[in-house]
Amino acid sequence: MPLVAAVTFALAAGITAAQNVSGPDKTPTTEKRSSAPQSSHGDEDGFTDTPLLPGLPWHVHDPARPHPKVVTPGAQPGQAPSDAIILFDGKDLSKWTTARLGTAAYTLSQNAAAWKVGNGYFEVVPRSGDIASKEMFGDIQLHVEWMEPADVSGTSQNRGNSGVFLMGLFEIQVLDSFRIRTYADGQAGAMYGQWPPLVNAVRGPGEWQAYDIAFEAPQYSGDKLARPASMTVFLNGVLLHNHKEEMGPTIYRQVPKYAAGPSEGPIVLQDHGAAVRYRNIWVRRIGGYDQPEK
Ligand code: MG
Repeated sequence: MPLVAAVTFALAAGITAAQNVSGPDKTPTTEKRSSAPQSSHGDEDGFTDTPLLPGLPWHVHDPARPHPKVVTPGAQPGQAPSDAIILFDGKDLSKWTTARLGTAAYTLSQNAAAWKVGNGYFEVVPRSGDIASKEMFGDIQLHVEWMEPADVSGTSQNRGNSGVFLMGLFEIQVLDSFRIRTYADGQAGAMYGQWPPLVNAVRGPGEWQAYDIAFEAPQYSGDKLARPASMTVFLNGVLLHNHKEEMGPTIYRQVPKYAAGPSEGPIVLQDHGAAVRYRNIWVRRIGGYDQPEK
């Protein structure tokens, strides 16, 4: 059987099986019906007569397991939830300072960020320097919106280049990659110099776009790397990287490599000579599982 026909057959069979299970004259299989008989705790409180989860101090459905803290989501997708740290609320750059990106490194200064603030956004002032968040972050969820100039010009890496650097070290590229080509590991959404995005989900110049990034910071044990950094990145709701490990801090024309250092750093936005705009920037620190409710 040709492969395409085999796949089609399998899909059709799967749909038929699913319909049989949930058909009108079959009793639906629900989680409640398939769970173990209730103990005296009742199924809202949980169970203590169940097995321990492997490697954990908790029984399956353990009534003593901590409940996660409550976070109120934003009213609309992209809006900051209740536990977010707002880095730009549309008004000023008070949470930012000047910085200078280097070779797999950055430096900070005490000077005020010199980029232009407009109505609800700010804009790179070309050749004024990079800017960095004053606050340092390790494992985070980051939301940042950006827009290429409507009249963007230039080619390849000189077309609307900027960038979002996690810990000032790991760049997710900002560039006009809408029907414009550059090397794949340098296009918009790339983990620059390492991994192209899984797909190209960019919008055109003059349109706002949104990165949602889950970042895990590198961890070191003495001089040794204990855990590499990783990125999960969505652009405009489309997955670009799925928990992809960084080979090391972003570097130009070289193979990246780690050097032991801190596990926190600023978010740095790159001045690469183009008047790229940013807005609605917020961050959440990612905690661990089973933390006591606060
Ligand atoms: Mg860049």
